[in-house]
Amino acid sequence: MGVRRSFTFLLRPTVRQAAALAACLEDHRTLYNAALEHRRTAYAKAGVSVRYGEQSAELKHIRADDPAGQGRWSFSSQQSTLRRLDKAFRGFFDRVKAARTPGFPRFKGRGWFDTVEWPKDGDGCRWNSQPEHPTATYVRLQGIGHVRVHQHRPVSGRVKTISVKREGSRWFVALSCDDVPAEPLPATGAAAGIDMGVAALVTTSDGGRVAHARHLAATADRLADAQRDLARKKRGSRRRRKQVARLAALHGKVRRQRLDHAHKAANTLVGDYDVIVHEDLRIASMTRSSSGTIETPGRNVAQKSGLNRSILDAGWGVFLTILAHKAESAGRKLIAVNPRNTSRTCARCGHCAKENRVTQADFACAACGHTAHADVNAATNILRAGLALRQAAQAA
Ligand SMILES: [Zn+2]
Repeated sequence: MGVRRSFTFLLRPTVRQAAALAACLEDHRTLYNAALEHRRTAYAKAGVSVRYGEQSAELKHIRADDPAGQGRWSFSSQQSTLRRLDKAFRGFFDRVKAARTPGFPRFKGRGWFDTVEWPKDGDGCRWNSQPEHPTATYVRLQGIGHVRVHQHRPVSGRVKTISVKREGSRWFVALSCDDVPAEPLPATGAAAGIDMGVAALVTTSDGGRVAHARHLAATADRLADAQRDLARKKRGSRRRRKQVARLAALHGKVRRQRLDHAHKAANTLVGDYDVIVHEDLRIASMTRSSSGTIETPGRNVAQKSGLNRSILDAGWGVFLTILAHKAESAGRKLIAVNPRNTSRTCARCGHCAKENRVTQADFACAACGHTAHADVNAATNILRAGLALRQAAQAA
C-alpha cells in the first residue's frame, strides 16, 4: 500500500529565471490581494459573499486583459492561489460562527507571500522535465522555464502537486507525492512510550533521549530579536523590507533545522520499536501548563517564553507528523494517549501527586519511594496507557 510523502529541494535558477520567479510570485500576490479586495468590498457594501467559483470564472477575463502580465502564468496555479484565499475566508467564517476572535483575512504585503502552488504535475508545470539529461534534474514552470533542481535524494511515488517557495534569496521546490511505496521494517518485538519535553525533544520509556535540534534555541533567540527589530522599522521603508526578508530567512532556517532533526529522530524510533506511544498533543496543549513540564524548563533552554516556547511547540508537532508518516510506511503502530497526570503519577505504584515531581528532572514517589528520571517515569506511564488502549481495542 502506498503512502503520501513530500520532498523539498533547493532550486538553482539562472539570473533570468530568478527574476521570472520573483515576477510570478509578485503577480500571484497581486491576484490574491485583488481577489481579497473584491470580497471585502462586496461584503462591506452589499453584505454579499463572493464565492471561489465566481472569482475563478473572472480569472479568464483578467488573463485575457493582461497577456504580458497575469496571462503569462499557469491558470491552475492562479486558481490555487484563489482557493487559498477561499480557505482563509472559510476559516474566518468558521471562527465567526464559533464566536472566536475572527481576524479578517489580511492583505499580503511584500515579503509575506512566498509560495505558489501548481496543483497538478503536467498542468503548467512538469517535474523532471528533461529526463534525458545525464546528470541534472529540471522542473519546468510555465512562464519561467526549465529550472535546475538540486535533487539530493531520490523521489518515489507519483508527483501530485508542485510548489515553489521563496526563503530570503533562495528558492525551493516542494513535491507532494502519492503512492509512495511503503517500506515495512522487520519486527523488533519492542514497544516504547515517548515523553516530549523542553529539556529533550524525546525521552523513551527505555531511558533513551533525543535532544532538541542543535542551535535551534540560538536561532530562536535571533528570531525573537529580529522580530523586535522589525516592530521598530517604519512601515513601507526599505529597511523594513530588508528586515522582513531576514526574518523569513531565519524562519526558513528554523524550519529546516527542525525538519532535518525530526527525520533523524523519527528514523531511530521507527527502527527500534514496533509500537510507539506518544502524548496526544491536542490534549497536551491544554493540560501542559498545569502538568509542570513547561514552567520549569531545563537549563539549556532559554527561559524566554512566548516565541521560543512556540518554536518548541511547533517542533513537537512537526516531529509527530514525520513520525506518523514513517511509522505508516514502516508498518509500525503509533498510539496517542491522553497525557493527563503522566508526569506526576508513579510508574511503579500508581500514586499520583504533585509532590512526586521533585525537580524538573527528578521523580521520587512519596508513597513507595520509587525514583527515576522524571521524563522516563512519564514515558513509562505513556507506554502503559497506550498498551491498555490497544488491549481494549483488540478485546472489542
Ligand atoms: Zn510509587
